[in-house]
Amino acid sequence: MNASILPGATIGVLGSGQLGRMFTIAARRMGYRVHVFSPEKDSPTGQVADLEVADSYDNVDAIDRFAAGIQAVTFEFENVSSETIARLEDLLPVRPSGRVLSTAQNRIREKTFLRDVGIPVTPFRRIASTADVQAAVADGSFPSVLKTADWGYDGKGQVRVDSAAALPEAWAGIGQNDAILEEFVDFQGELSVVAVRGDDGQFEAYQPIANQHRNHILDLSVCPADLPATVAREAVEVTRVIFEALGVVGVLCVEFFHCSNGGLLVNELAPRPHNSGHLTVDAHMSCQFEQQVRALCGLPLGSTELLRPAAMANLLGDLWSDGEPDWAALCALPNVKLHLYGKQEPRVGRKMGHLTALGSSAAEAAQLALAARERLVS
Ligand code: AMP
Repeated sequence: MNASILPGATIGVLGSGQLGRMFTIAARRMGYRVHVFSPEKDSPTGQVADLEVADSYDNVDAIDRFAAGIQAVTFEFENVSSETIARLEDLLPVRPSGRVLSTAQNRIREKTFLRDVGIPVTPFRRIASTADVQAAVADGSFPSVLKTADWGYDGKGQVRVDSAAALPEAWAGIGQNDAILEEFVDFQGELSVVAVRGDDGQFEAYQPIANQHRNHILDLSVCPADLPATVAREAVEVTRVIFEALGVVGVLCVEFFHCSNGGLLVNELAPRPHNSGHLTVDAHMSCQFEQQVRALCGLPLGSTELLRPAAMANLLGDLWSDGEPDWAALCALPNVKLHLYGKQEPRVGRKMGHLTALGSSAAEAAQLALAARERLVS
């Protein structure tokens, strides 16, 4: 293992949203100083960091100055250009590495990598030209989902295609960009496994989390997921194989479809802590952000033990449509914790915060999380 970066040192994060904020809180709790770099000012991360640098990710001089003030860097936002990441890798430890980021940044590279290492993925084909569209019209399987290859998250840049005839228009609708056409999966549920690997190969995974989406945005996460033990074990094992094959050092989340036939398919990878893992802050021995700090700094990883069944409900800007939500009503519930990200503008669909509810069972925690969120607006 490389020499550890010990508490008291200054570490950096690229990207300044809520993931960076929670990383920073975990790092500062452990005695680190944190510098954040992003184009934003007074950002969710900047509000809690020691130093906020607001500049373009493509400004090499600004990146160099940022790197000079820190001992290692991680990401909360993975869509930073490969040139910037390569520049940082010349200067200091970058975790996860540029290779991991570039694989996960592009859906075609990601799915091709997974398929090549024998991981079950949704059947897919590349759509990069009119000829590809014609070929898919001729022998593709529908319904399917067309997704832009780059810069996609929370269902952005993706559209369901119900018939071959609808494909040309769907491709035009996403700007005829490089895309992936995936078969529509008939799933009984969606799962995620958040895990972490150190630079000495130590691997730790949280048990699978069950996820429900609304309008393509994560709505509710529950841990432990209600799954046959064999499926839970398989999900963790697939995750371990992905970490080893990619050589991940850091936190990464694997999102799965649990298909109606009982099998698992990997939907996508997020090379960082994940929204579904936010419940680890309140429900697990060491949360996903603390693990990110430990992996970045070359420290032994923490325990992923679940202390109490938990559920996380996202708080989107929609909750503000009739004014400020009733925070006091939520805080009156003893088994519920409130997390707000310090964002000023509550836009529809924008992640403003989340709540975590703890229960004696996962089902009880889920019910409480939903009831608590209702209280905010009733
Ligand atoms: P993604 O951006 O790929 O994570 O997709 C966001 C959400 O859209 C997923 O969590 C699913 O709920 C849904 N979705 C994406 N791809 C598919 C698919 N191939 N079949 C069925 N649902 C999908």
